Amino acid sequence: MIIRLCVVLAFVIQAQAATPVDLTLPDSELTPLVRVRVKNKILKVPLESYLMGVLPSEMSLSWPLEALKAQAVAARSFVLSQMQRRQSSNFDVESTHLDQVFRVEHLNYAGPYRKKLLQVLQETKGEVLLEPQKNVSASQIQKTYFHSDCGGSTETSFYVWRTQEPLLQVQDSSCPVSQHSKWEIKFSLKTLEEKLNLPGIKSLQVTTKTPSGRNGTILVLLNNGDKELFLADTFRKRLGFNKVKSTYFDLALQNGDYVFSGRGHGHGVGMCQWGARVLAQQGLEYKKILTHYFPLSRLENIKNIERPLYAGKL
Ligand SMILES: [Zn+2]
Repeated sequence: MIIRLCVVLAFVIQAQAATPVDLTLPDSELTPLVRVRVKNKILKVPLESYLMGVLPSEMSLSWPLEALKAQAVAARSFVLSQMQRRQSSNFDVESTHLDQVFRVEHLNYAGPYRKKLLQVLQETKGEVLLEPQKNVSASQIQKTYFHSDCGGSTETSFYVWRTQEPLLQVQDSSCPVSQHSKWEIKFSLKTLEEKLNLPGIKSLQVTTKTPSGRNGTILVLLNNGDKELFLADTFRKRLGFNKVKSTYFDLALQNGDYVFSGRGHGHGVGMCQWGARVLAQQGLEYKKILTHYFPLSRLENIKNIERPLYAGKL
């Protein structure tokens, strides 16, 4: 299967289409085709091949095997969930952090971890997480968000995007664990005014906290007496996701600048990758890692799920 997919991949790399191009070979197995938008092109890539393009982009292949297997199931579930939700769209997923990172050059990955990557995909082939409390024939695939480092506790989707995904807040006593997940950044009032598009900022205040301890809302007071209230995730987006690495931060005024001191990296919803790495190092197998982050979901193979869940993609 993998060998044949590598043949398919040669076609993928050459694809020049502005509209979807079917890259399945006539004799290929029935497999969902992912419509992935790469810049202004839409490529149709068999599911497991698509995951070859995702895994090295989303988690270091040097990490423990069981963490990579958990990541593979999460990435597979995430894309199939998007396929369910975007059936009326002309593509299923972006190839960037807007969904999950996919790189065409990884499709034929030939680096030192090739054998390990193939093992990860083969040993989890077709496995996905399903939303809870539904029978298989009616199941929705879990939208398995993941992020870099939870900072100590994951977050529910409601407090980030105001969506109601069946995901719980879970604790990770080992986090923050990444060398980049304790961070500090300073903003001048002038920079804040530019980034927030608000002239005359007087002060910033954290007005609510979420149950996980992250900031929920940030109130910006202006010199003219006006106020602007931001959801913390929106506030973070305005200042730059790569600068304000999470909404787990304290604010302090120092010499007229605001210093943000934070922990964690990413939105905090779903699986914490650095936490998964720790759990794998402690000897947990991937199914238990997934259960830790998605305690309500259950593992299933897509061959047992009715085709209409990703209708039109077979
Ligand atoms: Zn964590």
